[in-house]
Amino acid sequence: MIFPRGERENMKKFIIATNNAKKLVELDRILNPLGINAVTARDAGVDLDDVEETGTTFEENALIKAMSAFEKSGLPAIADDSGLMVDALDGRPGVYTARYGGEGLSDKERYMHLLDEMKDIPKDERTARFVSAICCVISKDEVITVRGECVGEIAFEPSGEGGFGYDPIFLYEGKSFALLTPEEKDSISHRGKALRLLREELLKKNIDG
Ligand code: IMP
Repeated sequence: MIFPRGERENMKKFIIATNNAKKLVELDRILNPLGINAVTARDAGVDLDDVEETGTTFEENALIKAMSAFEKSGLPAIADDSGLMVDALDGRPGVYTARYGGEGLSDKERYMHLLDEMKDIPKDERTARFVSAICCVISKDEVITVRGECVGEIAFEPSGEGGFGYDPIFLYEGKSFALLTPEEKDSISHRGKALRLLREELLKKNIDG
């Protein structure tokens, strides 16, 4: 069943296990046309602050977050775990992307830390990928996990004002993610790809119940 935007009270409620408002917006753009009302854990009164991302893969961390939100709320739950993998750094920062460089840093301080670490790496060795694993727990026995990747390279300096996180230093076909419109980013990004895979999987299920 597809509901127009605005008729959220008729829609199936899914908890989105994130406190990142920009991620929620990206998830909502895809889920809303499927008749899914994406609400944050906080708005649903579910406290996920004690959930530790102890997994060694993006998929494990997405499952930990989604299962915890499902168990605490009794509602279907979706969680994304994402990050940046740099080939010249053996895949780092990987699952540590959000914490890279230490506690309490701003997004800018984190990506400047990465740029500094990579200052001697030549252009043709700066390949990297954004990865997004999304896990949807519909019930205890019904779990969907998908993964999307976007291959690009790390710039020598930041450019662009849009997006979030490491967008200003990630180049896709030579252009910074922070210079893309939201629609352009959705069409090629790791999260856009993972969400389209999730949509295909959800369409196979009866989620109106
Ligand atoms: P998570 O919230 O644990 O998944 O952490 C993801 C980390 O990767 C955060 O530091 C984000 O800023 C970064 N990240 C994930 N996706 C993107 C993106 O699309 N653009 C820029 N940074 C991203």
